[in-house]
Amino acid sequence: MRRTLLVLLMAVVAAGCSSTRTDTPQTETPEAQAAMPAEPPPAEAAPAPVVAENALLQPWSGPYGGVPPFDKVRVEDFKPALEAAMAEALANIDRIANDPAPPTFENTIAAMEGASRTLDRVGTVYGIWSSNMSSSEFQPIETEMEPKLAGFSDQITQNEKLFSRIEAVYNSPAKAQLSSEQQRLTWLTYTNFVRSGAKLDAAKKARLSEINQQLAGLYTKFSQNVLADETDHFLVLESEADLAGLPQSLRDSAANAANAKGQSGKWVITNTRSSVDPFLTYSDRRDLREKAWLMFVNRGDNGDEHDNNAIITNILKLRAERANLLGYPTHAHWRLENAMAKNPERAMELMEAVWKPAVARVKEEVADMQKVANREKANITIEPWDYRYYAEKVRKARYDLDQNEVKQYLQLDKLRDAIHWVSGELFNFKFTPVSNVPVYHPDVLVWEVTDRTTGKHIGLWYFDPFARPGKRSGAWMNAYRNQEHFDREITTIVSNNANFVKGNPGEPVLISWDDASTMFHEFGHALHGLASNVNYPSVSGTSVARDYVEFPSQLLEHWLATPEVLQKFAVHYKTGQPIPQSLVDRIEKASKFNEGFATTEYLSSALVDMKMHLAGTQTIDPDKFERETLEELGMPKEIVMRHRSPQFMHVFSGDGYSAGYYSYLWSDVITADAAEAFEEGSGYYDPDVAGRLRANIFSVGNTVDPAEGYRMFRGRDPKIDALMRKRGFPAPMTSAAPARERMRKQ
Ligand SMILES: [Zn+2]
Repeated sequence: MRRTLLVLLMAVVAAGCSSTRTDTPQTETPEAQAAMPAEPPPAEAAPAPVVAENALLQPWSGPYGGVPPFDKVRVEDFKPALEAAMAEALANIDRIANDPAPPTFENTIAAMEGASRTLDRVGTVYGIWSSNMSSSEFQPIETEMEPKLAGFSDQITQNEKLFSRIEAVYNSPAKAQLSSEQQRLTWLTYTNFVRSGAKLDAAKKARLSEINQQLAGLYTKFSQNVLADETDHFLVLESEADLAGLPQSLRDSAANAANAKGQSGKWVITNTRSSVDPFLTYSDRRDLREKAWLMFVNRGDNGDEHDNNAIITNILKLRAERANLLGYPTHAHWRLENAMAKNPERAMELMEAVWKPAVARVKEEVADMQKVANREKANITIEPWDYRYYAEKVRKARYDLDQNEVKQYLQLDKLRDAIHWVSGELFNFKFTPVSNVPVYHPDVLVWEVTDRTTGKHIGLWYFDPFARPGKRSGAWMNAYRNQEHFDREITTIVSNNANFVKGNPGEPVLISWDDASTMFHEFGHALHGLASNVNYPSVSGTSVARDYVEFPSQLLEHWLATPEVLQKFAVHYKTGQPIPQSLVDRIEKASKFNEGFATTEYLSSALVDMKMHLAGTQTIDPDKFERETLEELGMPKEIVMRHRSPQFMHVFSGDGYSAGYYSYLWSDVITADAAEAFEEGSGYYDPDVAGRLRANIFSVGNTVDPAEGYRMFRGRDPKIDALMRKRGFPAPMTSAAPARERMRKQ
């Protein structure tokens, strides 16, 4: 979550978020990657005495090679710790830059891998606070430190002596003698320095750094504004009449939320997706649905002190200027250059291929819903706040599938056991709960991961499942420490975070099918970190291209629906009986239901994101731009973007997913194609396919080109056909499809 040194530079990214169809993915800033000298830091770089007592600066102690000191965190320690750690990293970098020995891979590229150990540790804990424990005490520190961290990063990429050494290693004939991982790391380091402005003249470098620091401030403000609107606005349900249609579990969680808001005896729908979506699905009160919908889609767009529109205008302007400075026509071109897509045109081509069939499907879905409304003599035309409500009715009528019935078989704890079990079947992992490590909140639980056969320690998995004030919404994965062994064996520490709503104390937490799918998704990211087996931390685990990182996670979603998982873990919360086959069949039959909606709400966000970042340096009024773009696209009026611009955390809380929301679709093309590899084998537990998956995808991090890694796994490049089949859309008549078509015609 916290970027550090190399990651900032590297613009290659770590994981985060969640699937396109389930919950709200959030921007996950890259995790601590980095760099060199082993702890303790060299004496000359030791922290100044005034902060010597600062627990954040100490090497992590305790079991498993050390764990984050969550029991010793004091918010007032963050600023001095970050400052001391940045100073230490800069001293280390200077030492590398001024090394009298001629530049080599070892004394330059590898040395940089260890140059910011302390900052990585401090930055990791700081990032955890930002995402999970934000408070009025913490936020001013973040506001002050984010621009400083951006400036720090620029000081490294703009260090001319350092860059000339990197360039020398990159151009040296000796490079051919390095291992392929070392060669790729050298290429990545060089490329990312160049992409970050290492070759610019002094005046341009100075301007670039100004821009980066201004952007860092704007990103922080943007995030804090969204968090404020999610916290400060909520819908109070006053009486039984306001609860019409709501299932008991939703009433319970709304009552708990009311208690937390000091509204005991009433019910509260909080302004987050996990609270609003179920309300929109079940509430019979159309007037209240409209209220909840308006509250949610207007986050960051209320014309008050938390309004994000002017911030977006500034961000887009600064990004466009930065891209031009760096020699790119637009921010999108700059961002996509080192993604799998390589350029915005290829990403747009994919989005446009899927857009038309998705919108066509929406028309059918709306017609179906309108029929239901007419039959009920509701005397309405379907509006956006009706979509989920009537979709649920169509689902029930057509597939005899009631999500509340399904939910009774989906207990949070059992599903957690299920993902652990799946990892055992696929990668031979074993999860054992531990209580000997500190956590930052009592809700957080920790497991040790070992090899099921040898007992070898693999890493730690932290799980923070529940929503609370100060925690951002959505679900994500995080690496607290990356696996590496270039210097010595360092095992990984990963976490999965979610925003499930707590039910009544002592009762199992029941979750929806979509939420269960999200759990598998985020766990896929965690497995990507845990299975990592590389030498250098910058290329470890999920540190891969943004439009590739969602592939392992989206792939894991497929195991939820396997009979093995459902039989063992989808058991009724009262009777303990496994989910009946008839219900599983109905889930399967309904699996492509509402794909028009899911794809369209996602794609409209992805298209607006890309188009905003292709628009160049013009001044953009986000509200107007969004409206006009959607009109040109032919956006169905019954659907709103999954993330409207003023709340689009992926895109405006950092550079991470900017011009990059398309990544979920890009990755899903690969995902769907990869899933069919299992289906063509002996099924989802085929050990040979799982072995190839681990060897070529999950364990290699960014040590190989992703397209090459995929070819090694699949024997060919991915095709779009599998994605269209998965979503129930007609296969495109592209070069990938015709074989089948020709056969039929002949
Ligand atoms: Zn994800």
